Amino acid sequence: MVPSSSPSAATATRPAFARWMGTTNQITRTFLSAGAIPGLINVAGGLPDPSLFPTDRLAAFARRAVAEHPDEVLGYGPIEGLAPLRDAIARRLGSPALPLTRANVLVTTAGMQGLDLIGKVLLDEGGLIAGQSPTYLGALDAWRPRSPSFRNLVLDEPGFDPERAFAGAQFAYAVPNFSNPTGRLVDLATRRALVAAAHRTGTWLVEDDPYGTLHYDGAALPRLIELSAQTAPGEPYAGPVIYMGTLSKEIAPGLRIGWIVAAPEMIEALTLAKQGSDLCTSGVTQRIALAAMETGLLEEIRPAIVALYRERRDALCAALSAHLSDCFTWEVPVGGMFVWALAKDPDLDTDALLPHALAAGICFSPSSVFDARGANRRGMRINFTLNPPETLDEAMRRLAAAVAAYRAS
Ligand code: PMP
Repeated sequence: MVPSSSPSAATATRPAFARWMGTTNQITRTFLSAGAIPGLINVAGGLPDPSLFPTDRLAAFARRAVAEHPDEVLGYGPIEGLAPLRDAIARRLGSPALPLTRANVLVTTAGMQGLDLIGKVLLDEGGLIAGQSPTYLGALDAWRPRSPSFRNLVLDEPGFDPERAFAGAQFAYAVPNFSNPTGRLVDLATRRALVAAAHRTGTWLVEDDPYGTLHYDGAALPRLIELSAQTAPGEPYAGPVIYMGTLSKEIAPGLRIGWIVAAPEMIEALTLAKQGSDLCTSGVTQRIALAAMETGLLEEIRPAIVALYRERRDALCAALSAHLSDCFTWEVPVGGMFVWALAKDPDLDTDALLPHALAAGICFSPSSVFDARGANRRGMRINFTLNPPETLDEAMRRLAAAVAAYRAS
């Protein structure tokens, strides 16, 4: 047969992408690649300072993992994760009041996979999520393919009633320690109220905790999973909280190691979902994580990380005071990686400000991306962990120039 001279005439129309693809956001991609733009200061991402990565120790752990456990780490491993790592995670989080066994633990390819699996297991098409607002944009990204509806929970609003808020939801979601994006710590009374509502309404309550160890002032509060333990003697935890941890902020995000701790029935369901996702998390990085836990590396490096980030938080707040106090308000966060700044002028639109900021050489995260409906265009999330104090000062100077350009436009 003679080929058609016009290939387009013989080619069917390309099939469309799935409908949810039209609702994606590009901001995460923008700030993960912002490092490649010469001169741009990136305060948009939740990025750790790479100078804190314990590279020599991690390289030694990696070499030992491959040399000493080649079959285990280079073959396919169990979907749930390597048994000694699951045991180490159970020991790390567990206590007499929170009895955990390996059956309570699933190793995940970092926190993002945990969010994805929770959506796969709990969320029907169009289902309702009762989520802390504003909320982590990665969680919105993970659940978007199911086109969920999202009930915004403003946890510190007077009269907040979690039982009413959870009604009809397929699960509830909160970041109680130094929320992303606001950096706020959920107080003890609200933690207790969330847990009581989860028990009373039978709602799964997702506790996402990547920042719990980045605590700069004051004492830590009990985790939701600790408050929710009502376990019969000798039985593993069986409560409603689905706790999520990660090594991304404690060591390095490139390890892509996280975990979910929950009732065994939930771990079983998530394991089935992970089977259809990536079969197993890399054995090499699991062995690195295990060595980091067994040798005490995490506790060893924590004081230096906390000291550096505390200094940078103070530097960012000082820079905000110096350059932007006439147009923004903010709270000093007691932990985490972010300052949440709100414009004093209710008409200032941070989506519209962003192009001016990029032109001035600074990239921030506008508040709209932390809302399922893209509402709240008056704020921004500013990261303080990636850049040194003098760069943070320059970043806020540029942001002030961007605000002036925006107002003049
Ligand atoms: N949850 C929250 C609240 C986060 O801020 C992040 C990272 N920015 C994650 C989960 C996921 O992080 P990772 O996949 O690196 O563990």
